[in-house]
Amino acid sequence: MSMTTTHEHNPFAEVNERVSRAGEFLKLKPGLIDVLQSCEREVVIAIPLRRADDVEVLTGYRVQHSSARGPRKGGIRFHQDVDLNEVRALASLMTWKTALIDVPFGGAKGGVAVDASKLNAIEKEEIIRRWTRSLVHVLGHHRDIPAPDMGTDANTMAWLMDEYHRLEGFQPACVTGKPVELFGAPGREEATGRGVAHIAAATLKEHDKKIKGATVVIQGFGNVGKFAALGCEELGMKVIAVSDVTGGVVDKKGLEIKSLIIHPNLSMAEVDERVGSAEVLEIECNILIPAALGGVIHEGNVSRIKADFIIEGANQPITSAADAALRKAGAVIVPDILANSGGVMGSYFEWTQNIQEFTWPIEKFRRELDTRMEKAFEHTFKVSKQYKVDLRTAAFIVAVGRVAQSFEMRGRLV
Ligand code: NAD
Repeated sequence: MSMTTTHEHNPFAEVNERVSRAGEFLKLKPGLIDVLQSCEREVVIAIPLRRADDVEVLTGYRVQHSSARGPRKGGIRFHQDVDLNEVRALASLMTWKTALIDVPFGGAKGGVAVDASKLNAIEKEEIIRRWTRSLVHVLGHHRDIPAPDMGTDANTMAWLMDEYHRLEGFQPACVTGKPVELFGAPGREEATGRGVAHIAAATLKEHDKKIKGATVVIQGFGNVGKFAALGCEELGMKVIAVSDVTGGVVDKKGLEIKSLIIHPNLSMAEVDERVGSAEVLEIECNILIPAALGGVIHEGNVSRIKADFIIEGANQPITSAADAALRKAGAVIVPDILANSGGVMGSYFEWTQNIQEFTWPIEKFRRELDTRMEKAFEHTFKVSKQYKVDLRTAAFIVAVGRVAQSFEMRGRLV
């Protein structure tokens, strides 16, 4: 089910708990809260994958949580732990994320239960083309727009776009996170990590802490983790440890991120001190950025977490029980729907450019991203003070309020 093996959590129930709580603050009627806790459409498909002398049937998903505020938007994950419950949770989170940062999208998510690290490029292409063919009737630039997530990347999105074009004709806005050479937007690839780094800096500033020299630890060294590390370094912070699935590396004087990025994985990096993939979370630091899997901070390790601020690069990296324990211990947590929303903000810019058939220079992309992220951050902080609640509750109050309002304004007689 979830990404952790020993500390199970129910990701969809946890998101819905947060929706309920926000609904209570907003005094929403129980029926409306029910609407916001349900997914509009769930499609489960079989994907036969050719193997050497037989076929293997994989399970694929697309869950569309809400279209109240616009076309549904959300990534596709290739990971062995993907299941319906997790895809529902991630689809719902996309609804809250797009509402919080105020872009005209709803929420969706997709996935295939498969270990991406064991697939070659031909198999990956076969899976994504089959996924697209089976789901094309629910996809489209004004219906539902996929993007990359764990185990998928710009190449995967190029194959998805190509398959979509064969079936439905030219429309590059049908998917985001494409290669820059093929209707992608310069700036999109780095957008999530860049956003995470800027949110980390803004959080320090808001709490009157120095940005320069602040120590940072990152779990996950993929798309989000790498660009978050580069961004933090650029802003003057000191990244003292990072880990990926092969393990972690530590240098209390500060790692040089550019020299780590050149390796396919961290086991190949030349460093003096190593640490386990999960142990990295327990290193003392100012800023901890979990940027890999869900549920990695749980009841079993929460007492050993020694960070002042946790910026959620990954989706749902902290279970509800651990979240409560951390807050009680005084840690400040910037929730996923704010912290990693730079990705979908960047996707919005790519989608807009594709529709307008007009490209922006990267400077404009970065400027727009930074300004809009800052606005979402400031608004969430303001609401947290207004309601005297933690940042996660505040973010959900803003997002749930906006989606509920759109749903109500569309009328009830459907
Ligand atoms: P990715 O596949 O590019 O990278 C994942 C990284 O996690 C890799 O470095 C991998 O080695 C590492 N990892 C896997 N298992 C691990 C383990 N057990 N311990 C430590 N590291 C481990 O994925 P990504 O796109 O960077 O996504 C990471 C997280 O961020 C996911 O939760 C995803 O949903 C979320 N996210 C991604 C985006 C985006 O734009 N890519 C946007 C928002 C949220």
